[in-house]
Amino acid sequence: MGAGPGGVATALKLSYLGIPSVLIDKATFPRDKVCGDAISGKVTTLLNRLDPGILERFNRQAIQADVWGIRFVAPNNKELDIPFQPNYVRDAQAAPGYVARRYDFDNFLVEEARRRDNIQFLEGQAVQEYSRIDGGWQVSGEEGALQVEARMLIVADGAHSAFSRKVAGLERDFRHHAGAVRAYFSNVGGLSPDNFIELHFIRSVTPGYFWIFPLPGGFANVGLGMRSDILRRRKTNLRKALFEVIEGHPALRERFKNASLVGEVKGYGLPLGSKRRPLSGDHYMLVGDAGHLVDPLTGEGIGNAFYSGFIAAEQLQQCLAANDFSAGFLKAYDQRVGRVLGSEMRLSYQMQKMLSYPWLVNLLANLIAGNRRVVALLSGMYNDFALREQLVKPWFWLKMLWRR
Ligand SMILES: Cc1cc2nc3c(=O)[nH]c(=O)nc-3n(C[C@H](O)[C@H](O)[C@H](O)COP(=O)(O)OP(=O)(O)OC[C@H]3O[C@@H](n4cnc5c(N)ncnc54)[C@H](O)[C@@H]3O)c2cc1C
Repeated sequence: MGAGPGGVATALKLSYLGIPSVLIDKATFPRDKVCGDAISGKVTTLLNRLDPGILERFNRQAIQADVWGIRFVAPNNKELDIPFQPNYVRDAQAAPGYVARRYDFDNFLVEEARRRDNIQFLEGQAVQEYSRIDGGWQVSGEEGALQVEARMLIVADGAHSAFSRKVAGLERDFRHHAGAVRAYFSNVGGLSPDNFIELHFIRSVTPGYFWIFPLPGGFANVGLGMRSDILRRRKTNLRKALFEVIEGHPALRERFKNASLVGEVKGYGLPLGSKRRPLSGDHYMLVGDAGHLVDPLTGEGIGNAFYSGFIAAEQLQQCLAANDFSAGFLKAYDQRVGRVLGSEMRLSYQMQKMLSYPWLVNLLANLIAGNRRVVALLSGMYNDFALREQLVKPWFWLKMLWRR
């Protein structure tokens, strides 16, 4: 249920395992999804592992900007460019990350699902009811428009999933949830030639961040996000805050002076994975945003939707082999997702708290800026979890300072 990245990843993985599925979405594709549109190496790694042909077809689409790193901008305006690889050679290798409008990227994924004979794709069909039946679930749409029975229900219907809330009992907890808005702009000045995505830590919107992610054709995805408990406490209107940043911040005002807003500013929720939640029950598994699996630091959710989808597909293979779809047997799914994503979520949560202190971000930016050795070391953090773990330890930074 749901043909976003989580649902399609599950269906594709099942398909390659030889297991047929029905993929249902209320939208007709292509459709928009409010997002920053950044696609991390997690996604490309998993697609490549499934079938390198998928990535080749993706690269032929030309819907994406190749991204080679991240620019962090501290509240004191200090800029840190941390490439994904220390000595990368642009054009000589595939890019480690991308930005592609979800309108295009999700449509590409859906097209991949359409290529597979053992995926039955039903679009434009909203699931409105789910009932437990003997040996599984029955889902149906309005006035019986849709009726599908399944031994396993994979719930991947996103951040507003009614199943997740009403059946699985995953209530929204505002301390572990974020709100964000995104807008498309043309002609933003000062974008990096290597399409570094930009994260700006600006005092007035701390502990959230403002982003600029370059898209092909001179466009950029621009947005602002913050934890929902803080948004509510401060009564922040994110749309207003976005324009206050663009118009009020001297450096950004200059960069946006010739830029034009394309379309509307749109907002949506991000259910963060900083609180561990149950992800399964009798004959069902929650995948992606429906399982609250968004990274609490970066807001990245596509990669985690992919991971959980792949794990769900492998778990279903086990269920079929054992003919056991019970909540008890499915605990293995929760455990595996916890093993794969849990430590990363915990670390991101620690870093989220750390970055909520502007003085600390300034201090770190001062320490790192201009220090090529530290920048090269930090380049490794994207792929090296042990190194990333060091970043929240004062001792690590003291050592860096000492060796300067
Ligand atoms: C402003 C913002 C910026 C973000 N930026 C990034 C980013 O840059 N990079 C990143 O990795 N993540 C980002 N995220 C998070 C990312 O968008 C999500 O984590 C990701 O889309 C989750 O994928 P999903 O498949 O679980 O859900 P979704 O992508 O939401 O897909 C759910 C699908 O279910 C369908 N559906 C819903 N209800 C029903 C129903 N009743 N019946 C049938 N179908 C239904 C929907 O039509 C939809 O197609 C951002 C989120 C926001 C809000």
